Amino acid sequence: MDLKSLVRDIPDFPKPGILFRDITTLLRDPEGLRYTIDFLTQKCNEAEITVDYVIGIESRGFIFGSPLAYKLGAGFIPVRKRGKLPAAIHSIEYELEYGTDCLEVHQDALHQGSRVLIVDDLIATGGTASATAKLVQKIGCELVGFGFIIELRDLQGRAYLPDVPIISLIEY
Ligand code: 5GP
Repeated sequence: MDLKSLVRDIPDFPKPGILFRDITTLLRDPEGLRYTIDFLTQKCNEAEITVDYVIGIESRGFIFGSPLAYKLGAGFIPVRKRGKLPAAIHSIEYELEYGTDCLEVHQDALHQGSRVLIVDDLIATGGTASATAKLVQKIGCELVGFGFIIELRDLQGRAYLPDVPIISLIEY
């Protein structure tokens, strides 16, 4: 299936000069959605990735991370932006183009030795995924891989990630 044809390009969003890859058109397509989750699952199985938890990065990582966790027989854990999680949290700050941002996870969600796969819809510069990796590694988890639907190759985000399998389904 031509997944790329289901991704919509939106010029100048959220700022002038940025070409946004919109996955809502892929999500609303029943066959596209099913194929995406099945393909991601297949690639994890081919890479012999076995996990205790799939970690989804807010917010589009939740959409793909939870069905993947279901398919892999794993649990799902959300990593959220500052102030959204109700119980005690671990957090990590990371650099943005202007300023910093923060990602958080519940303290009792992950433990030393938990095998985790980090999922997001898209990797661009790698900043978000790299910060999430540092967060789970700080806790002592075993990071077994990353899964993305889209990878923007030119930005070389994967160069900033730890040396574990990195799965992506569509490349630009
Ligand atoms: P990075 O930290 O790798 O530079 O950016 C990746 C993060 O920004 C992801 O959480 C992703 O959801 C979001 N993002 C950046 N650009 C796009 C885009 O063009 N389309 C979508 N769907 N998400 C984007």
